[in-house]
Amino acid sequence: MKLPILNSFHLQKKFQISNVQYRGRFAPSPSGPLHFGSLVAALGSFLHAKSQNGLWFVRIEDIDKPREQAGSVDDILNALESFGMVWDQDLQTNNENNYRGCLVQSNRLERYQQIFDDLKQQGLLYSCYCTRKEIKEMGGIYLGHCRNKQHRFDAHAVRIKQQAAQTEFTDLLHGKVNIDEQLMNEDYIVKRSDGLFAYQLVVVIDDIDQAITNVVRGVDIMELTPRQISLFNLFGIAPPSYLHLPLIVNDDGQKLSKQNKASAINCSDPKPELLKALACLGLPVLSQSSLSALSIPDIIDWAIQNWDINKIPTQLNILL
Ligand SMILES: [Zn+2]
Repeated sequence: MKLPILNSFHLQKKFQISNVQYRGRFAPSPSGPLHFGSLVAALGSFLHAKSQNGLWFVRIEDIDKPREQAGSVDDILNALESFGMVWDQDLQTNNENNYRGCLVQSNRLERYQQIFDDLKQQGLLYSCYCTRKEIKEMGGIYLGHCRNKQHRFDAHAVRIKQQAAQTEFTDLLHGKVNIDEQLMNEDYIVKRSDGLFAYQLVVVIDDIDQAITNVVRGVDIMELTPRQISLFNLFGIAPPSYLHLPLIVNDDGQKLSKQNKASAINCSDPKPELLKALACLGLPVLSQSSLSALSIPDIIDWAIQNWDINKIPTQLNILL
């Protein structure tokens, strides 16, 4: 099937063709302070960018406002500064809606709506009345039940017609990754029944608008990557390269997260956790006994010089 032409990103296309510099990003959700797992993810994306003289942006993923915890944005940004990660100002999308030089999703609702409207006008979206329970009863994967029902666009979830699904991609660390075909063919939700845009739509719009060339993030998002690549393809934009870092898990094998009350990193004494996080990323911390005498900026410089993606553990989980 021939894909429709969407003109929403014509400026970005021009920029993409002319831009060769590495542009990376770290995109935390402000649902609590930074914990050790997100510190490792932030450092991985920062060091990978800076080892290639790249730009590194921070994007506040606060699209899910009900989950936001007051004060978290500043807590996270202050923590990044304490641990020596200085982010770049994104001149491409810099405007009065940025906060401390970071792109803020909740300020971009008009932009998301514009892309949503374009997709809708092309007949690529439809309203879905199925409940979560019904989809579970149908086998857990949504099989297009409402695709041709012409439901009105109202207070129900909106799905995109997935017509050129990707099922595999090449990860810089893991090589060729295959994801379940049925899952990738799913018409996934782009706007939730509560009216919020879904992560899967806005993350791609943001990556395009910021002309991100390299995504480095936790392996928990790896399964969604081909879906995001198929959306890049739909928009006619070349996708970034992807590298998925191991997740830090607790004794129960659970990912450290704000939901399971992972403790905040200690910003008043960052050095021990910084060194531990660098070791998790495969840096030869233990063989450098003089490191602990260095300042935070000097440790970061050392890490940039010694960053080697061939040393990153390829296992999916690292026990804290
Ligand atoms: Zn449905």
